[in-house]
Amino acid sequence: MTAKSYPADEQRVIDRYLSVRERLTGACALAGRSSEEVTLVGVSKTVAPSLIRAAVDAGLTDIGENYVQEYLSKRDALPKGITRHFIGHLQSNKVRAVVGEVEMIQSLDSVRLARAIDRVSGEKGVVTPVLAEVNIGAEESKSGVSREELVPLLEEVAQLSHIQVKGLMVIPPVEESEAKKREVFSQTRQLFIDISAKKIHNISMEILSMGMSDDFELAVAEGSTMVRVGTAIFGSRPSRARQSQ
Ligand SMILES: *Cc1c(COP(=O)(O)O)cnc(C)c1O
Repeated sequence: MTAKSYPADEQRVIDRYLSVRERLTGACALAGRSSEEVTLVGVSKTVAPSLIRAAVDAGLTDIGENYVQEYLSKRDALPKGITRHFIGHLQSNKVRAVVGEVEMIQSLDSVRLARAIDRVSGEKGVVTPVLAEVNIGAEESKSGVSREELVPLLEEVAQLSHIQVKGLMVIPPVEESEAKKREVFSQTRQLFIDISAKKIHNISMEILSMGMSDDFELAVAEGSTMVRVGTAIFGSRPSRARQSQ
C-alpha cells in the first residue's frame, strides 16, 4: 500500500484502523449487508493531528470531534479532504465556531440549538446538515431528545431553511448489557423508519449513526449506517477530567 515508514505510535494507529476495518467488513457480511452501506467515523477527540493523519493515510475518510476549543486548535493541521463531524454536546453560544467548519453536526438536541445553527448558517451562507441525537434507554444522560420530543423537534426544524436533518444519532447507556444495547439500537432503527414514513418536509432519514468501539458490530446488525469508533482506532484517551469543552 505505502512504502512510507511511520513512528511506532502512528504505526499502531494504522494497525488498529485496519483491524477495525476488518471487524466492520465482517459485521457487514454477517448481517448480509454491503460494507459500503456503513461509514466509519474515526473519533479523534484528544488525538494529535499526526495520529489522525496516519489513520487517514491508511484509508480513514471521516473524523468526529467533541470539543469546540480542541477542534479549532487542531483544525488547520488536519489532512485536507476529510469529512468532519461534530459529535459532542454543542452549546448554542459555541455554534458560530463550528458552523461552516465541519461537514455535519450529529448532536442536535434542542429547538434552541437548531435555531442557533440555522441563524449562523444563514449568516455564513451555508446549509448545515445535522443528525438529531435521540436519547433512548439512557434516562440519566443529559444529551439527546426523548422519543416523545423528537417529532415536535423535527417539525420545528422543518421550518428552518439553513439546517437540514439527515438522520438520527444515538449513544446507548454506558456499561449496559449487550441485550440492552441491542434493544436501544433496534428501537432507534424503528424510530428512523417511522420518521422516514412520516415524510416531514425538509427532513430526510438517510443516516443512522450508532455503534462505538465496544458495540459497533451489534449496531451494524441492527441497521446502523454510520459507526463512530474512537478507542479501537486511536487507543485509550486521558480521563475526562483533563479535557475541556
Ligand atoms: C467518544 C465518542 C465516541 C467514541 O467512543 P469509543 O468508545 O472510544 O469508540 C463515539 N460517539 C460519541 C458521541 C463520542 O463522544
